Amino acid sequence: MPGPSYVFAPPATPSLPIIGRPERFPVNRIFCVGRNYHAHAVEMGRPVDKATMQPFYFTKSPSALIESGATVPYPAGTANYHYEMELVVAIGAHGFRLAEADAQRMIFGYAAGLDMTRRDLQLVARDQGRPWDLGKDFEKSAVSSPILPVGDLGSLDRGAIKLQVNGETRQSADLAQLIWNIRELLADLSQFYHLEPGDLIYTGTPEGVGPIKSGDCICGHIDRVGEVALTVGPAE
Ligand code: MN
Repeated sequence: MPGPSYVFAPPATPSLPIIGRPERFPVNRIFCVGRNYHAHAVEMGRPVDKATMQPFYFTKSPSALIESGATVPYPAGTANYHYEMELVVAIGAHGFRLAEADAQRMIFGYAAGLDMTRRDLQLVARDQGRPWDLGKDFEKSAVSSPILPVGDLGSLDRGAIKLQVNGETRQSADLAQLIWNIRELLADLSQFYHLEPGDLIYTGTPEGVGPIKSGDCICGHIDRVGEVALTVGPAE
């Protein structure tokens, strides 16, 4: 049976390579966790008290995805373009209202990601009580390495997470410093959404975020997971 016909070609499915496999990982949704390392929450002027607060989320459009190694234009509408180095969790199963004990089975794999941010636009939105979309959900703002299948990596509760700009270290922390760990995040997020295969979760960035300019090369690393790289080209 022929499929539906469209008035123009539908966009390609965003996807990522998978290490050791010929198939690609089709990306469904991109969830991002805000303020999930204490020192970063403090540098943003919004400390977190886990005893009284819950994690919060924003999303990026799947079309904002771009693979590690790309050169991207300095984005439109900003004078304060920032990197945020993050562990990405790739979901491979269906899950709703998960218990923390059931969260591990949801994980297909991990990646090293960059939550690229138009910080000036994000902070205006934040301080005026507006949505963060202009600051966070823009073209080529969700950078990811290939996905490493979970294998025997397990829940990845520790490991160095680092970022360099032009070879100079700007972020250096450990996954053990996540305020809400992966199991807690999956359990919490699944109270609000039916998690589906293809969902990506950017788990938050450590301290040391900062501006970059045209010509800069960013390289991030997460122990046992991989590397993510991005070059900033001229403004459009
Ligand atoms: Mn982030």
